[in-house]
Amino acid sequence: MSNRISLRFYEELNDFLPPEKRKRAFDRAYSQAGSIKDLIESLGVPHTEIDLIMVNGNSVDFSYPVQDGDRISVYPVFETLDISPINHLHLRPLRVTRFVLDTHLGRLAAYLRMLGFDTLYRNDYDDPSLAQISSEQQRILLTCDRQLLMRKQITHGYFVRQRQPHRQLLEVITRLDLCTQLHPFSRCMHCNAQIQPVSKASVIQQLLPNTRKHYEEFWQCPACQKVYWKGSHYQHMKQAIEQLKSECAHGAK
Ligand SMILES: [Zn+2]
Repeated sequence: MSNRISLRFYEELNDFLPPEKRKRAFDRAYSQAGSIKDLIESLGVPHTEIDLIMVNGNSVDFSYPVQDGDRISVYPVFETLDISPINHLHLRPLRVTRFVLDTHLGRLAAYLRMLGFDTLYRNDYDDPSLAQISSEQQRILLTCDRQLLMRKQITHGYFVRQRQPHRQLLEVITRLDLCTQLHPFSRCMHCNAQIQPVSKASVIQQLLPNTRKHYEEFWQCPACQKVYWKGSHYQHMKQAIEQLKSECAHGAK
């Protein structure tokens, strides 16, 4: 038996659909009874991107069994619109914003650490490990792999649309509304540990002659021993952060 249903996806959820299905209602025939989560993910939209599903005017959760004739509207996470009486699917935001990133996002991982976010990244994490870390440690999984976000155990994930690392950083900060949570230069960009101020004398053996000559203030990572100071690299990053803040303030996407 084949049933017929009608679907419409809103706002940025359309990023996951082929052009002919974007921003309009479309019909779909289906023969198997299944949950609305399975139906929506079969169209390529990860459940982590969804905040609200309306069926025939009522909000439902992911386990709702799809029925013949259903008219389904699917909405992304709202940032400002108050729809509080309705059944939100997205869990409450995590109290502490922490991340785990998939293997393709190494530069983004370093940038997030630069802004002070607790960010796990290794270039050899496989998909099951990423899903497990995200779920057990309550970390937001950032990935360019939508299949990965469809794993059931992942409750907090975000599909990164941009390809260029600086744009990815701006995208994540604005879409997850993190502009007020930045603590730049508090964390080691290489290993994620929090850096500590140290005396010049304690690190002087590790410094190049020019650095030794021109700088007095130093920080060190207690985990990997890397030394930081406010050199030209710092100035460039500081400029990039100022630009990021102003783009955030202007609501750039
Ligand atoms: Zn380190």
